[in-house]
Amino acid sequence: MTHVSKKPLLGCIADDFTGATDLANNLVRAGMRTVQTIGIPSDADAIDADAIVVALKSRTVPVEEAIAQSLQAYAWLKAQGVEQIYFKYCSTFDSTPKGNIGPVTEALMDAIYGPGQGFTIVCPAFPENNRTIFKGHLFVGDVLLSDSGMRHHPLTPMTDANLVRVMQSQTQRKVGLVEQSCVAAGPDAIRARFLALQAEGVGVAVMDATSNQDLHNMGEALAGMPLITAGSGVAIGLPHNWKVRGVLQANAHADTLPPAKGYQAVVSGSCSVATNAQVLHWRQAGQPAFPVDPLAIASGTDVVQQALDWAIPQLKNGPVLIYATAEPTAVKAIQNQLGVAHAGELVEQALSNIAKGLVQAGVRQLVVAGGETSGAVVQALDVERMVIGPQIDPGVPWTSVTSKVCGDDTVHVTLKSGNFGTNDFFAKSFSLLKAA
Ligand code: ADP
Repeated sequence: MTHVSKKPLLGCIADDFTGATDLANNLVRAGMRTVQTIGIPSDADAIDADAIVVALKSRTVPVEEAIAQSLQAYAWLKAQGVEQIYFKYCSTFDSTPKGNIGPVTEALMDAIYGPGQGFTIVCPAFPENNRTIFKGHLFVGDVLLSDSGMRHHPLTPMTDANLVRVMQSQTQRKVGLVEQSCVAAGPDAIRARFLALQAEGVGVAVMDATSNQDLHNMGEALAGMPLITAGSGVAIGLPHNWKVRGVLQANAHADTLPPAKGYQAVVSGSCSVATNAQVLHWRQAGQPAFPVDPLAIASGTDVVQQALDWAIPQLKNGPVLIYATAEPTAVKAIQNQLGVAHAGELVEQALSNIAKGLVQAGVRQLVVAGGETSGAVVQALDVERMVIGPQIDPGVPWTSVTSKVCGDDTVHVTLKSGNFGTNDFFAKSFSLLKAA
């Protein structure tokens, strides 16, 4: 008998890479079998999953490009037969005054509901990760978004925490607010407020949320809404809607991956505080570690070969770490010599080639640290899809992929964005996989 896969229920469009994995992780934890695609798949083959997350890199590209990519992703997801579309952005609402969150939201609304029509929500809240919204204002921990480090972000500085105002500056449609007292009152109150806002001509409603219960109340009220725009948090309240309809089995094994095999390695290009602590923790435990020097790469030394010559003979003994991770002063010094962008590119290229060489040498369990580094590595491994597995730390799951550089063999990969994970993240990752 041939296996007939049912249609996926939820189709997600994520505006960046590690953010896509973060969303997929929340869906899996809520019992949905989830596949993440790297970009828009070139074929229309049906994907056997409850949810699909299309990972784009559209957060900071020109607005027109972000719209075009998002609409293409929508068309592909629609052809897969999904019931609901979820446009996912960062929980700090990373955008410029021009976008891309507002313009992409409007383009998706125009495509889904018709020009100028329809109703959707905006909600980057993720209380578990200390992102809450009250009276339309986004808080990062205890401070307003505009008082957080995000005000200094190099690409998307966020200087206004009032999301109604921020969203209104990016959209033609009228923006309104559903206050926390209403969200806390439950799904019926929220639905009534949606109707009242629509009667006032509002097309986009910012949703307050300060707790997981708020997200669950909201989730129930969002049943059947064709388009949702949110951070990864809102996803925790959605699977329930399909479970009560009986179209989604309560799947306690949504995070099951094939058994892990092969050698183990960590490749780290993140210089964030958490990653520095993780590299230090690894080295202090006496585990094998090879530093990659950006100045040596720039001077023409074949650092990739050196790293592989060091790593490959000892893979049989256990996991190795190859890192460019450095403290801020060291990074500054290198950037002063090479330029920020050039230093970044050189390191990303070297680390992704090292990752490729490691996989070709038999590594099948790979930890990658760094958002940009992860993008470069996944591209070098020629990966199209990631199946999302168990969570290692909040926002960071194991995934399994097939890589063309090892004859389409299965590789377990985890992509850790800079500031995620406990100090013992690297060793913990491998022990979790072993226990699975
Ligand atoms: P994170 O998720 O911590 O921001 P990313 O991988 O996104 O990590 O970004 C780190 C950037 O810093 C990458 O472009 C990487 O190539 C670059 N980089 C890594 N190590 C160094 C270093 N020692 N000097 C300069 N740049 C570095």
